[in-house]
This record gives sequence, structure tokens and C-alpha cells, in this order.
Amino acid sequence: MTQNPSTNDTVYAQISAADEQYFMPVFGKRTPLCIVAGHGVYLTDSADNQYLDMIGGIAVNVLGHAHPRLTAAICEQAKRLVHCSNYYYNIPQTQLAERLALLSGLPGAHVFFGNSGAEVNEAAIKLARGYFYYQGQPRSKIISAVKSFHGRTLATATATGQSKYSQAFAPLPAGFEHIPYNDTRVMLSAIDHQTCAVIMELVQGESGVIPADPEYMHMIEKRCRETGALLIIDEIQTGIGRTGHFLASSHYGLQPDMITLAKGLAGGLPIGAIIANGKASSGFHIGDHGSTFGGNPLVCRAGLAVLDELEASHLVENAAITGTLLQNGIRELSRMTGLISDVRGLGLMIGFELNKPVAPDVKRALILEGVLVGSVGDRIVRLLPPLILEESHVEIFLQKLKNVLEALPV
Ligand SMILES: *Cc1c(COP(=O)(O)O)cnc(C)c1O
Repeated sequence: MTQNPSTNDTVYAQISAADEQYFMPVFGKRTPLCIVAGHGVYLTDSADNQYLDMIGGIAVNVLGHAHPRLTAAICEQAKRLVHCSNYYYNIPQTQLAERLALLSGLPGAHVFFGNSGAEVNEAAIKLARGYFYYQGQPRSKIISAVKSFHGRTLATATATGQSKYSQAFAPLPAGFEHIPYNDTRVMLSAIDHQTCAVIMELVQGESGVIPADPEYMHMIEKRCRETGALLIIDEIQTGIGRTGHFLASSHYGLQPDMITLAKGLAGGLPIGAIIANGKASSGFHIGDHGSTFGGNPLVCRAGLAVLDELEASHLVENAAITGTLLQNGIRELSRMTGLISDVRGLGLMIGFELNKPVAPDVKRALILEGVLVGSVGDRIVRLLPPLILEESHVEIFLQKLKNVLEALPV
């Protein structure tokens, strides 16, 4: 079943040409596919080819595509009430806040909704600074890791430990400092009594799927307690069951002061959430923060449907099980082909490293086999499939990956 993405595809030709003319060129040359529909773990392009979706909208489509429960919830809510502003209470927003507060296990948890990951990380930074401001002992220093990714607003791009995301946009907000990831010694001297907050990912997604060392994270937590610095765990990618726990923080046995969520939370509708414990929540007073769209009934209703479905179909457990199958299968292919030098990740957040700079070739060849994956740089292939992925899909993926690896020119 070899597929040919763009032959005789006038929709693709028209859309890609118009995109080049009218869309800001930030995405460069995109993968040459125009996606028109999706169902389950499959996507369909404008030439009617089907693809096994192993990147899930970058960890967003946790229920896959056109999931009946999510679609029904969105349609039902759209007919009732899409938006009403935060002047008023709305039922889905309060219900979703309650569910997330309880699921987080954070003592005295309060939730705030934004519309994206960057926006809620930005809110977490404000909340941390507000917390010390209202204590009458302002602190500004925010520490994050080298190679981290926290978003693209000015503050979150500055927190992001990769200068390519911020260098063109100086002057950048002050007070940000980067420390090497998984390096305990530097961390111990960097976090001090001037530190306002530490923001960390438990698996660095955008820089190549790099898990944090549990001991390192526990020492960060301990150091934050000693110095009074607030600990923010950015679970925008690792949250919502991705790693085989609802939150990766539970994997690590961490009790952060704040957790940020986005990507998978509403299964594809734009949402972000910050969950803060009772202590950190005091950093916002009335009027200090807000959002026009944030927490509107439509997206929150979708978020509730996602949480309901995760529970009803045991999808978090499924992420752990299928994630292990996938990782084991890729390790097996590594032994068979000698082309894969490392396999890493947690649950259904997986990266594997090729021992030659052929990740773009592997990605392209997989498209012809009907499989979509992500890549980081030219050596790392990244998988973030929907959490509804089944064993049969894992087998299909491994077979196609095997075909592709075996056909690589040596
Ligand atoms: C994707 C991501 C963000 C940014 O989220 P946006 O919704 O794109 O703003 C922040 N942190 C992490 C860890 C992410 O994976």
C-alpha cells in the first residue's frame, strides 16, 4: 500500500500555493499533505490517502479524531452555549476546575483556564511573582532548564532554554536563568533565597524526548522547599495521561506548587490550565489576571468529555501498556537493524534516535507507508499518538517502521 501524497491532487496544489502566498512563513515548507478529515487513529488527506497518526496533533488528539463522545459533547454544548464571558459563572468551567483540582492531588488546589500552553505558563510566572510580591518580599528570578520548551510569548520564550526561540526579540523580560538539565550540582547553587520559581518539564519534549532523572527532580523539589522557591511543573505535553499516569508528576512522586496543562486537555480545542496549590494561589488578587476566552463553556465541556472518556475507557492505563509495547518493539528493531541508537520516553511519549542523520528521510518514507510521525533535528523520531492507540496499531506501526529502516540506503 504505497501512497502518493500529491499526484493529481488539485486541493493540495491550491491550498499549498495559497498558504505560501498568504500565511506567515513561520512553518517553512510543511509536510506536503493537506489533512481534511480524521477518524480514530487515522487521518485522511485531500487525495483520500489514510495515515496512521502517530503524532496526534503534537500530543493534542488524545481521543484520536472524531471521537463520538467528544464530538457529541462539542455539538451539544455548541447548540446550548459557546461563550458568555467570565462576568458570569458557567457550568462546564466550574466542573472542569473541580475535576482538575481533585485529580491533581495538590492541597487547596485552585485552577485558572487560559487558551494555550504558553498562556498558562505565562500565568504561572505571574502567579509566582505575585505570590512573593504579596508576601512583601518580592522575588523575580525564574529558573528553567537548558533545552527546555515553555512557549512562545516573550516571557515563556525567555524561560525556554533554547535561544533560537527568543534571540530575535530582544529586549527580553528580565529575571530568567537557565541551568543544565539533570545536573544536580549546578542546580543546588542556582536555586537560592532570591529564586521566585523553578519551572521544569519532566520529559523535555521539543528538544528530543529527554526524561528527567527522578533523583534530580526530588532534589529540585527539596531545594525549592529549603529556599521557599515555588516549583512549577510544565505538564503541557506530559499531562492528561500521556506518560501512563494522569500527571507525570505522579510518576515522579512530586508535589509541585503549580502544574500547567494544555495540549491534550480538551482533545483538540484550544485550552490551557494552571493548577496551583492553596499557597501559590494566593499570588493572584482580584483583577490581577484574567482572560476573555479562557474557560469558556465550549472548551471546558470538551475537557470534561476528555476526562470522562479517559476514565471510562481506561486510556491512561492503555497509554502505559501500549507505550511499553511500542518502546519494546522499537528496541527490538534497534537490535535487528542496528540503525537505532537510543529509545526513550514514558508511556506514549516516545523518541528514538537514529545513528545517522536520516530522521527526515525516515519520516518521509513512513508517509509513503501511510504513517505520520514527528522528528526533532535530523536524528530523532518522535511519537505522541492518541491514547486510544491499540495493540494492532502498534503492530502496524512497527511493521512499517521495519520496512522503512530496511530500505534505507547504507
Ligand atoms: C507545547 C508546549 C508548550 C506551549 O504550548 P502552546 O499551546 O503551543 O503555547 C509549553 N510547554 C511545553 C512543555 C509544551 O510541550
